Amino acid sequence: MTSTITETVADLARIITGPVLTPDDPGYADEVTGFNLAHSPRPDIVVGAADAGDVAAAVAWATAAGLPIAVQATGHGLVADVSGGLLISTRRLQALRIDPDARTATIGAGVRWRAVIDAAAPHGLAPLNGSSSSVGAVGYTLGGGLGLLARRYGFAADHVRALTLVTADGIVRTIDEQREPDLFWAIRGGKVGFGIVTEMQIDLVPVTRFFGGGLFFSGADAAPVLHAWRTWASRLPEEVTTSVALLRLPPDPQLPPPLAGQFVVHLRYTHLGDAAAAAELLEPMRVVAPVVFDTVAEMPYPACDAVHMDPPTPLPAFDHGIALGALPAAAVDALVGCAGAESGSAVTLTEVRLLGGRLAAAPACPNAVAGRDAAFGVYVLGVPAGPAAGLIPAQVQAVAQALQPWRSGALPNFLGHASAAEFRDQWTPAIRARLAGIAARFDPEGVLGGRVFTG
Ligand SMILES: Cc1cc2nc3c(=O)[nH]c(=O)nc-3n(C[C@H](O)[C@H](O)[C@H](O)COP(=O)(O)OP(=O)(O)OC[C@H]3O[C@@H](n4cnc5c(N)ncnc54)[C@H](O)[C@@H]3O)c2cc1C
Repeated sequence: MTSTITETVADLARIITGPVLTPDDPGYADEVTGFNLAHSPRPDIVVGAADAGDVAAAVAWATAAGLPIAVQATGHGLVADVSGGLLISTRRLQALRIDPDARTATIGAGVRWRAVIDAAAPHGLAPLNGSSSSVGAVGYTLGGGLGLLARRYGFAADHVRALTLVTADGIVRTIDEQREPDLFWAIRGGKVGFGIVTEMQIDLVPVTRFFGGGLFFSGADAAPVLHAWRTWASRLPEEVTTSVALLRLPPDPQLPPPLAGQFVVHLRYTHLGDAAAAAELLEPMRVVAPVVFDTVAEMPYPACDAVHMDPPTPLPAFDHGIALGALPAAAVDALVGCAGAESGSAVTLTEVRLLGGRLAAAPACPNAVAGRDAAFGVYVLGVPAGPAAGLIPAQVQAVAQALQPWRSGALPNFLGHASAAEFRDQWTPAIRARLAGIAARFDPEGVLGGRVFTG
């Protein structure tokens, strides 16, 4: 940090209601640490915004000082050791209002999905959250948002009614289809480089329950289960969202004994229709191989974390994802070859999500979400800890590499550790140019990172 900045931090603190912390301050480490413990953000200054006014003041100040600006709610999306600049922590922005008649939720930038799910459920409504309710609602939605009801309702970004955000000039704007339509199009899917969202208004859907959960098989049966899943999945109706994951689970006593310390295949299933029909539809997958653990049942929507059983507590992670245009038998063979039982890989999770259904449909209000045309999303995650820590990045990348012949872009929320070219290649050159133009219009100096679309 330059001495000029050091001297003016006190000025910044005078115009901000929340904490303004530098690396030597108590509370700094807690403020910057996120869910992914593999990365430690080290901004010059972190502002714990207490309200939208704090966000606006911090952005205007950083822009005037020429400092890069980053934003963090939960740190679920950390993929680099951000150093320098100013970080805006939104975790105190906890506003949450449900309008049951309009079927909307208005959500502060620090709100996690769990709070929205619990507030919406008494009204017979649900948000389009993803596999883990501890993820931040805003970051998830700006990156598309591929959730448990995705094939029935599409991307979460398709259901944003309005956003209140602070652009690089420090101006607070409420944008929607009519107000700043270009910016509204770009940030829903473009995610990075357009503004710091302080509040988001989204549609809720009339969902109170589902039939689903997980079927676990031994990892030794990965090949027959994945081959059967790819054929079975191709015939499913929109009311089913499903994925299948190869999981190397830790010897965690919190896990059920058949799973703790085991390499397993986990079929995830969410069916919005009648329970008997949903059970019947799943039946062919039950007989592919012995089921070692079964959580499939009729569930109230707030129990949705039971489908994926994502880790609830922070951990170090190295991840990468791609989207596929198809999943032929050869692709399954390639995946099992590099991540299966015989591969020698220590990768923790290799997941294939079925896309299609409403995900492939043009939304009522167009947006910049990438991956809409893809048929499957693949996400690979390793935990860089213990003796194999150094091998994890290469093993994660090896899975994506093995699936290159079937690659069809990527999904922003699952891109993880990607090169600049992989980031840009999510969009066609025309869409990327439009994103770059809008980012440059609202942030000519690129303090919010919008130059990532050019190159
Ligand atoms: C366990 C786990 C499960 C997941 N499951 C799913 C899933 O099922 N479906 C899915 O689509 N994704 C999923 N993700 C990915 C997740 O949606 C993204 O990592 C998302 O960006 C996390 O947002 P966050 O605010 O929680 O994280 P953060 O790390 O705090 O933020 C990540 C990024 O979001 C953007 N962002 C956050 N807040 C704002 C804001 N106020 N204004 C502007 N930009 C902002 C910024 O670019 C920021 O760098 C999962 C991730 C994890 C770790």
